[in-house]
Amino acid sequence: MDLDLILVGGGLANGLIALKLAKVRPELRVAIVEAADRIGGNHTWSSFDGDLRSAQRAWTARLYVKQWRGYVVAFPGYRRTLGLGYASATSDRLDAEVRGVVPPERLFFGQPVTAITPTSVTLADQTTLRAKAVIDGRGALPSRHLDLRWQKFVGQHVELAEPHGLSHPIVMDATVAQQDGYRFVYVLPFGNRELLIEDTYYSDGADLDPEALRARIADYAANRGWKIARLIREEQGVLPIALGGDIAAFWDEGEAGVPRTGLRAAMFHPTTGYSFPDAARVADLIAGIKNLDAPKLYAALRRHSEAAWKARGFYRLLNRMLFLAAEPGRRYAILERFYRLDEGLIARFYAGTSTLFDKARILVGKPPVPIRRALKVMKEKPRHA
Ligand SMILES: Cc1cc2nc3c(=O)[nH]c(=O)nc-3n(C[C@H](O)[C@H](O)[C@H](O)COP(=O)(O)OP(=O)(O)OC[C@H]3O[C@@H](n4cnc5c(N)ncnc54)[C@H](O)[C@@H]3O)c2cc1C
Repeated sequence: MDLDLILVGGGLANGLIALKLAKVRPELRVAIVEAADRIGGNHTWSSFDGDLRSAQRAWTARLYVKQWRGYVVAFPGYRRTLGLGYASATSDRLDAEVRGVVPPERLFFGQPVTAITPTSVTLADQTTLRAKAVIDGRGALPSRHLDLRWQKFVGQHVELAEPHGLSHPIVMDATVAQQDGYRFVYVLPFGNRELLIEDTYYSDGADLDPEALRARIADYAANRGWKIARLIREEQGVLPIALGGDIAAFWDEGEAGVPRTGLRAAMFHPTTGYSFPDAARVADLIAGIKNLDAPKLYAALRRHSEAAWKARGFYRLLNRMLFLAAEPGRRYAILERFYRLDEGLIARFYAGTSTLFDKARILVGKPPVPIRRALKVMKEKPRHA
């Protein structure tokens, strides 16, 4: 098969690349090799309005199942409705859209890739595919060079017996009992009787106990007076939260010279673990590269990832404050204090575009963590013991 580009892993990052290239470079012959039987797995990917430019919102528009004007956060001593818009895309939509633009003979499902070079991939059945370039988007690459903690959750998309009455998403409800780190419940109102309820933890360990979390979702719903009539679907996630790392050493790991995207390229917001905005940005970047050969792509993607990592040091510092300086049961106090700040500052924080003034504003004042511990974690180390 004569191919220009092979996307290894049909997840979020590579799915968006396929969509963007189909729009602006339809002459390119792009193939996707995915271990599972569908594109995108089983996810709801949300983002704040400020995270994407309006042109990016426009070309990803068909992926959104719901958009809201504003969102709510709630803490033991404080509740606030913010005006920033929020949008949710789903893997079902991504799957349908990608199938609409990549012809079936170039979609290889149920085919785990076993070997990969900058210009070829070998499938489990020993077939080899070649192209001018290969992009590795197989999801997180376990690495000793990244110092990570976890945002982990179980989410249940449920139908209620009665209308829930919510008009806005609750992005954090931290009025719940604090356990296993910083705990909050995340609620997206999809229809007037439909909710996605996620029980979430900013935790030191990546282990997830789905049964316990399901029980807590049921308790939360009952406490709110919501009677669950039916479980529509369930999703789980263990997202990386970055405290430190050596991005050059991270890129030196893995297959030499193979371009990488998504979590494989450490392209995520260090504090939220969100990667939808980064994935849209990288798809734009790739679409703008004239000659998509492997060395050019590798250089461009590595440069982009390393620059993003360096620019995001402030967010890793905040993560160290959250995970290393604050007592786990008191982590919520850092977030509660943060959400009292100016709305524009909060929007820029999510978008990863905090100004110097924003950073100073976040750090000044009486810190909700012991000052000696805060000072100890100021400096980023490649990896904490
Ligand atoms: C349930 C959940 C909800 C999330 N919600 C949000 C959110 O609201 N907003 C946000 O911005 N981020 C969110 N994230 C975080 C992040 O956006 C996702 O993790 C995102 O899917 C990462 O994109 P990716 O393309 O790097 O990896 P993935 O989307 O995980 O894609 C990797 C793909 O590679 C395939 N693969 C792996 N190995 C092989 C192999 N050997 N051969 C072939 N294929 C292979 C996998 O099957 C998978 O389809 C969420 C994550 C999860 C898990």
